[in-house]
Amino acid sequence: MDDCLFCKIVAGEIPATTLHVTERTVAFADIEPQAPLHALVVPRTHVPNAAALAAAEPDTMAELVATAAAVATAAGHPDDYRLTFNTGAGAGQTVFHAHLHVLAGRDFTWPPG
Ligand code: 5GP
Repeated sequence: MDDCLFCKIVAGEIPATTLHVTERTVAFADIEPQAPLHALVVPRTHVPNAAALAAAEPDTMAELVATAAAVATAAGHPDDYRLTFNTGAGAGQTVFHAHLHVLAGRDFTWPPG
């Protein structure tokens, strides 16, 4: 998609700190980290949110979660990390290319803000 920020990162047109790549996913550091580890894992295919990804490419959804686990493990947090899909502006989604937040390295509270 021409005007999608994360499509441009996947294509290498906008720089990002890449952490892990697989056939169908790319993980890179969030530009505004909310924890010592804050990565975003995105599908290479443009879909607007997690539900759309699960419907269109269920295998890629599974790969997204596996990539997130690999990123957390590589950062030294194999057992304690938070995975988040914000879906919809009301839930805090600001980039409408599906992405899985991977956060680790500090204590987390529940419920989230
Ligand atoms: P959302 O709010 O949609 O769930 O998450 C979007 C995330 O993208 C935010 O955590 C934000 O910091 C991150 N972000 C926004 N612009 C950029 C950018 O240009 N590069 C990177 N690496 N992350 C970005």
